[in-house]
Amino acid sequence: MDKNEEKQREEEREQVVSPWEVSSSGKIDYDKLIDKFGCQRLDQSLVDRVQRLTGRPPHVFLRRGVFFAHRDLNDILDAYEKGEKFYLYTGRGPSSEALHLGHLVPFMFTKYLQDAFKVPLVIQLTDDEKCMWKNLSVEESQRLARENAKDIIACGFDVTKTFIFSDFDYVGGAFYKNMVKVAKCVTYNKVVGIFGFTGEDHIGKVSFPPVQAVPSFPSSFPHLFSGKDHLRCLIPCAIDQDPYFRMTRDVAPRIGYHKPALIESSFFPALQGETGKMSASDPNSAIYVTDSAKAIKNKINKYAFSGGQESVELHRKLGANLEVDIPVKYLSFFLEDDAELEHIKKEYGAGGMLTGEVKQRLAKVLTELVERHQVARAAVTDEMVDAFMAVRPLPNMFD
Ligand code: ATP
Ligand code: MG
Repeated sequence: MDKNEEKQREEEREQVVSPWEVSSSGKIDYDKLIDKFGCQRLDQSLVDRVQRLTGRPPHVFLRRGVFFAHRDLNDILDAYEKGEKFYLYTGRGPSSEALHLGHLVPFMFTKYLQDAFKVPLVIQLTDDEKCMWKNLSVEESQRLARENAKDIIACGFDVTKTFIFSDFDYVGGAFYKNMVKVAKCVTYNKVVGIFGFTGEDHIGKVSFPPVQAVPSFPSSFPHLFSGKDHLRCLIPCAIDQDPYFRMTRDVAPRIGYHKPALIESSFFPALQGETGKMSASDPNSAIYVTDSAKAIKNKINKYAFSGGQESVELHRKLGANLEVDIPVKYLSFFLEDDAELEHIKKEYGAGGMLTGEVKQRLAKVLTELVERHQVARAAVTDEMVDAFMAVRPLPNMFD
């Protein structure tokens, strides 16, 4: 092994980001990920451009760099500027009953994109994937898909512009034809290289990637985009989904489609710190949209990693280390008021504000968010789920 190879191996041990695992020995290094995956950094000039084109202030997640990487976003915006619309595609693997705040990030952002650009949206529920990876029964995966659909609808999507579908229900017809076209272009070696499957993995896993690939192609939705084979697609998602779309982009031109563009987010971190993402498999790492005000307060007080000092005296003298502080990080996602956030950072960083005070502010911000979500979710009926999931044309989806 030469020195470079050795260094690369070392880095891979330190940081793993795949659709199934996110872990790091230190803070996740997103610059390194951009290099490794070969995507582009989303810089200020692009944020300004989005603002100009949509005529509205950029979403907090864009302003503060939560969405930090992209692929071909410029091309989509060039086309949009010339009057060519696009559609949005995002999704969710329904593995758990309740969503956590990390799961809400892509949906809150997608809702903003839909409103700002006035474009249609398809949302894939990969119940088949979760059935295969989490060893859930078919029926249980389907039930979770519908439950999760309610949380997604509660984020405020417009039913006249949004189609939600479950793989178990929808795959077939034109969608399946595209899957087969994609599958023929991807060798076994290639899929092993991208996803790291081994000889012990069942063949369901090996054959799944085309299912997640083809919603990027308009012809997979003939009831929506018939005759619009050249409509472009923009995918908002977390960076761990990038491997699926690297594969998709590689195949797209070979089967006559545009490559989908991507806008990619960092992870909403675990309560324990930025070495990991908030994850459903570790309940102490996560705040769920079903948590009560009391539970939120307790979790923050007990688990949120603090950059504050050991004692009040020391804290007053040295101030908090904002680089590692989770309450401040969380506020940067969900406290919209820029001036207040700056004030907190300044005071807390200088020792004027104590960890307890910052945690109290955070508990209030997150409780408001979660309670708003709970009210919205309680209002989502089965009929509404059916309406979003009906295979139907959306005549005013570009208005
Ligand atoms: P599990 O721990 O059981 O794997 P999870 O919390 O990681 O559950 P998944 O269902 O694996 O949830 O998440 C599906 C996708 O949602 C992820 O691949 C990722 O794209 C996104 N996601 C999950 N957690 C976060 C997070 N903390 N921040 C941003 N995106 C997230
Ligand atoms: Mg996971």
